[in-house]
Amino acid sequence: MRKYSVFAVAREALRGHKGWGPHWASPEPRKQYDAIIIGGGGHGLGAAYYLAKEHGITNVAVLEKGWIGGGNTGRNTTIIRSNYLYEESMDIYEHSLKLWENLSQDLNYNVMYSPRGVMMLSHNIHDQQSFKRHINANRLYGIDNEWLTPEQAKAYCPPLDISKTARYPINGAALQRRGGTARHDAVAWGYARAASDRGVHIIQNCEVTGIRRDETGRVTGVDTNRGFIGAKKVGISAAGHSSVLMQMADVRVPLQSQPLQALVSEPLKPIFPCVVMSNSVHAYISQSDKGEFVIGAGTDQYNSYSQTGGLQIITHTLDAICELFPMFRRVKMMRQWGGIVDVTQDRSPIQGVTPVPGLYLNAGWGTGGFKATPGSANLFAHLIARGEPHRLAAGLTLERFRTGRLIDEAAAAAVAH
Ligand SMILES: Cc1cc2nc3c(=O)[nH]c(=O)nc-3n(C[C@H](O)[C@H](O)[C@H](O)COP(=O)(O)OP(=O)(O)OC[C@H]3O[C@@H](n4cnc5c(N)ncnc54)[C@H](O)[C@@H]3O)c2cc1C
Repeated sequence: MRKYSVFAVAREALRGHKGWGPHWASPEPRKQYDAIIIGGGGHGLGAAYYLAKEHGITNVAVLEKGWIGGGNTGRNTTIIRSNYLYEESMDIYEHSLKLWENLSQDLNYNVMYSPRGVMMLSHNIHDQQSFKRHINANRLYGIDNEWLTPEQAKAYCPPLDISKTARYPINGAALQRRGGTARHDAVAWGYARAASDRGVHIIQNCEVTGIRRDETGRVTGVDTNRGFIGAKKVGISAAGHSSVLMQMADVRVPLQSQPLQALVSEPLKPIFPCVVMSNSVHAYISQSDKGEFVIGAGTDQYNSYSQTGGLQIITHTLDAICELFPMFRRVKMMRQWGGIVDVTQDRSPIQGVTPVPGLYLNAGWGTGGFKATPGSANLFAHLIARGEPHRLAAGLTLERFRTGRLIDEAAAAAVAH
């Protein structure tokens, strides 16, 4: 594939941009692969890329029932941070954050990672104690996170209302300066291009309808709407549909699939320099490079595969934004959408082997898996290649729901994605 560079852009500008080829190939599926990954989101495409790049396994197919990046990867609000509470979480999210820092160079594709800072507002003594506990845990583990006074929070984010008469006064904030945002579609496209370049097959409009096993129970391949495709190793990375796919292998997983909504405003001039979230008032906001405010909150409180969500959730979210930023009261909203997130009881992901030999699961990223994309993909590739989890993902097993060794990140992951 052609390398993107300033020289290539200049050359194509002079040639009427006739030299750019497709970003990735669209081959017919082979009968047999060394590994199949189900789900063409950032996690699945990234895992295929790292399988090829770091493990030399290139006879790989990513099967996507729709178009790549059309799931949660292309629907999320792109918040990136690593300030979680427990070591198992800090390990994987920080691994991911480090990969984000160099991802555009690694993929030769601009994913527009922008470390503009993620600020979490504290409104009461409970928030303050909880955030300070996180800050201390993070700093002891070598991860940046700091406490700001209300005045420092306002200096970092000038539109913030810190007046004492505000309905939800602010008594401080936690700030992770290395946190930020990235361009979501670019992540899917960048991984797809780089994986395809190394020989991976990306097969869109290919829905997996069954998982086949031999008489010993081992995986032999998958049934799809384009026929049977064989593989001794199958990785599931299908976010909100993970439990549907696991059911095809007769395994029940502790996941709930719920709608999570987001919305964007009309574009405005640059006014909002960072990401701000409030768990208590229940909303978060940032500004995209196009100028739109990107806004979201928590999940709808029922299970569904509708990819829409209830109106009452977004009206409540906008009420909350207007409480925090009264100056935005007259801004108009332009679009709303939903995605289906896969939520575990302890709000931590599952990445590991399953009771079915040859079947590997990467799921349960819920409302917060975009930030984890490079790290999760990198470690999922290790799992598929070696058949055992990487040290950094060793605690994220399915087994923990049987043993009770849960990783309770509810406080870090509720509204704050
Ligand atoms: C509104 C919203 C806001 C969010 N905000 C944030 C945020 O700010 N920060 C953050 O870190 N995370 C956020 N998330 C969560 C994040 O988007 C996800 O955790 C992450 O994108 C999951 O990536 P993925 O590659 O696992 O899944 P996806 O991108 O959903 O990819 C899974 C793919 O599997 C495919 N698939 C499903 N079933 C089949 C089948 N039978 N056969 C073939 N293919 C199949 C789907 O079509 C889909 O493309 C948000 C999510 C939503 C919905």
